[in-house]
Amino acid sequence: MNLQDYRGVWVFIEQKNGAIAPVSLELLGAGRKLADKRGVPLAGILIGDGVRPLAADVIACGADNVYLYDDPIFHHYRTESFMRAVIEACQKHKPEIFLFGATSTGKDLASAVATDLATGLTADTTQLDVDAETGLLEASRPAFGGNIMATILCKKDRPQMATVRPKVMKRLAPDLKRKGEIVEEAVSVREEDLRTKVLEIVRDTTQRVRIDEADVIVAGGKGLGGPDGFELIHRLAATLGASVGASRDAVEAGWIEHHHQVGQTGVTVTPKIYFAIGISGAIQHLVGMQNSGLIIAINKDPAAPIFGSCHYGIVGDAFVIVPLLIEAFQKALQ
Ligand code: FAD
Repeated sequence: MNLQDYRGVWVFIEQKNGAIAPVSLELLGAGRKLADKRGVPLAGILIGDGVRPLAADVIACGADNVYLYDDPIFHHYRTESFMRAVIEACQKHKPEIFLFGATSTGKDLASAVATDLATGLTADTTQLDVDAETGLLEASRPAFGGNIMATILCKKDRPQMATVRPKVMKRLAPDLKRKGEIVEEAVSVREEDLRTKVLEIVRDTTQRVRIDEADVIVAGGKGLGGPDGFELIHRLAATLGASVGASRDAVEAGWIEHHHQVGQTGVTVTPKIYFAIGISGAIQHLVGMQNSGLIIAINKDPAAPIFGSCHYGIVGDAFVIVPLLIEAFQKALQ
């Protein structure tokens, strides 16, 4: 492989129901910096059915060009069809760096593409940089339970691929005057070649909170003692109009569903305010919330590790303090 043949930074533009996923716009912001440092173009690859109108947003948010695959075969996301388009595009245009959101779709697609192209993929990246001279992507992510940051290089293969966690990179303010080129690509993939058919989409109608998008999160842990104790968390959250988060131990005890879990094996959150109540502050929890704007911890153990990672700490019994807070906030918000 001649590495010099590969040029440019690409972002996979994830879209659903006519809207671009926020993480893709964040990656255009991050990709712009990498491309400028290298002096190469930034491109978005946009795949879907009827998605052409979104190409202008991709350019407004930082891309120099958009490779567009607009065809009914891409109506629903399927690994097979999308990976064929992405692989053909990579073989034709040879990007040096290729970024995907670390979403279910992004992770699924990036791993399939990296395997087929036999190149390196760094998963769940939280920091990106590039060596302007060598073009080596420096993709960093927490490792060993968040105790160290590992910077991973892909020295011998191209493209250098990474999935990046949502809400970590900063998107650029859209500039509607930015000019870019939309490159329409033909698809070689045909419906009869695909083994997967989407027969029906069944939506989950249970009310799912997106805690990764919340401004205020009230999170509870094992210290709440049981489902009745955990009710206090719901009451404080309702008072503040906040979302509810939880430690893994609270989830495993069955007090709350898994999609509320914050941490290494849960969701990474960056709210403006994060309450950690009856949560000890294990590293696997901290990696999921330590970038919150303001962290307020309530724990009866003054030696709990959470006090080493919070802005304000209240040492005391949650069953005494949380009702007082609810009362005070209710009065203040009347
Ligand atoms: P505990 O550690 O039991 O802490 C309870 C705290 O409540 C204590 O500090 C105690 O002092 C306090 N307390 C008790 N009673 C009261 C009271 N009345 N008032 C106030 N405070 C009180 N954990 C996660 O959270 N998220 C993850 O994604 C995650 N992923 C993991 C992945 C791996 C591979 C592993 C090995 C572990 C993972 N864990 C995760 C588990 C993690 O290591 C901890 O076990 C877990 O976070 C502890 O949950 P906790 O803080 O609720 O419980």
